[in-house]
Amino acid sequence: MPSAVPPPAEGGAGGGAGTVLLTPGPLTTRPETRAAMDRDWGSRDPAFIELTARVRRRLLALANAGEAFTCVPMQGSGTFAVEAQLGSLVPRDGRLLILVNGAYGRRMAEICRRAGRVHSVLETGETEPPRRAAALAERLVAEPDISDVALVHCETTTGILNPLADLAAAVSEAGRRLHVDAMSSFGGIPTDLARLPLTSLAASANKCLEGAPGVGFVIVRVDHLSGCADNAHAVSLDLHGQWAGLEANGQWRFTPPTHILAALDRALDALDDEGGVAGRFARYWENCRTLVDGMRGLGFETLLEDAVQAPIIVTFRAPADPAWQFQTFYDRLAERGFVIYPGKLAQVESFRVGCIGAFRADTMARFVAATEGVLREMGVESGAPAPSSSTD
Ligand SMILES: *Cc1c(COP(=O)(O)O)cnc(C)c1O
Repeated sequence: MPSAVPPPAEGGAGGGAGTVLLTPGPLTTRPETRAAMDRDWGSRDPAFIELTARVRRRLLALANAGEAFTCVPMQGSGTFAVEAQLGSLVPRDGRLLILVNGAYGRRMAEICRRAGRVHSVLETGETEPPRRAAALAERLVAEPDISDVALVHCETTTGILNPLADLAAAVSEAGRRLHVDAMSSFGGIPTDLARLPLTSLAASANKCLEGAPGVGFVIVRVDHLSGCADNAHAVSLDLHGQWAGLEANGQWRFTPPTHILAALDRALDALDDEGGVAGRFARYWENCRTLVDGMRGLGFETLLEDAVQAPIIVTFRAPADPAWQFQTFYDRLAERGFVIYPGKLAQVESFRVGCIGAFRADTMARFVAATEGVLREMGVESGAPAPSSSTD
C-alpha cells in the first residue's frame, strides 16, 4: 500500500487546519498541494503556458483519451464546466435528452432551460440507477430528433453510481452524442475513453483529483468541438473559444486561475505516486467500507443498496431516536475536526459522509469512533432509522 497520503492532523476546532472534510468537495487536500499555491505566476509567462499545457495533457492521460480528444480547462466551479459543456457542445438546433436521478441531473435541465436548448428528461427514483440501457435505446428510437444525451456518472445527491458503460453503448449504437458529468468520479473511478464511446466529459479539480477549487475542465472529441464555433450562449463559457485561444498561443482568453492550476499539477503528482486512478479507487473503497461497516455497527442504515453505491459519498438515513438532531450532531463532529454534509433528498431525512479526499481508512475509523462519542453525548441510543415504508 503506498504511504503517499499523510493523514491530516486530527482534532482542532471546526474549520481549523486539522479539519477533515467528509463532504463532496471541496475536499481535504495534502499540504504539498496547498504549498504549490505559494508563488505568483504571470498568465502570459512561458512557465505558466507550459504548466497549462502539462495539466491538459495529464488530464487526458488519466482518461486514456487518445489523439481524438482535447482537454479544455474552464475557470470556476464544476457547474461552470457543465454549463460550458452543454451550452457549447449541444447544437442550437439540437435536442438533448437528460437522464435524471438526482439534483445534478436536474441542474443540467436548468442549464438547458437558461441556455434555450430544447431538452427532455428521463427521470428515475433517486435510489435507482437510470433506466436500463434497453429502455434508453427504445426512447432514442421513439424520438429520432434527439441529437444528444447527457447523464451524471456518480450522482452525488445520493452517492449512486450510474451504469455509464451500458448507457454509453446504447447511446453510441443509436448514433447519438453523449455528454457526461463525471464531476464526482473523475480521478477516483477508472474512466477509459479508448473504450467508452462518448463525446464529452466534464469534471473539476477539487473532487477526486484532490486539488483546490476554482477550475473545471471538459474532455471532448476534437472532431465535434471544432464544429462548435459560435454555438455557446455565453462568451465566458464558450468552450470552443477557450480551446481556440489555447491552441493558438497556449494562453487563456481571460484571467486564468494560476494558483489553482499549480495546485492541480501538484495534486496530479500525488495521484501518480498513489498508483494512478486504480490506486486511488482502491483507497476510496477502503475508506467507504470502513465507514459503512462502522456506521452499520452503530445501527445506521445506508440509503442505497451496496450494489449501486459508489465509493465517493454515502447517504445515511437519520436515526429515529427522539434525541437525534442533525445540527447538534454536525456541530459536535465539527468540534472533533470532522465536517459532514446534510442530506439532499426530498422524501427521507438523511445526512452524507464523503469517502474522498486526502485521508485514509484510519481517519475514517476515527470518524466512526467520534460519531459513537457524539451519539452517546446526545443520548441517541442507536443510529437505526424508522422502518422504511418506501419501496421506491
Ligand atoms: C460537485 C458536482 C458538480 C459541480 O458542483 P460545483 O459546486 O459547481 O463545483 C456537478 N455535478 C456533480 C455530479 C457534482 O458532484
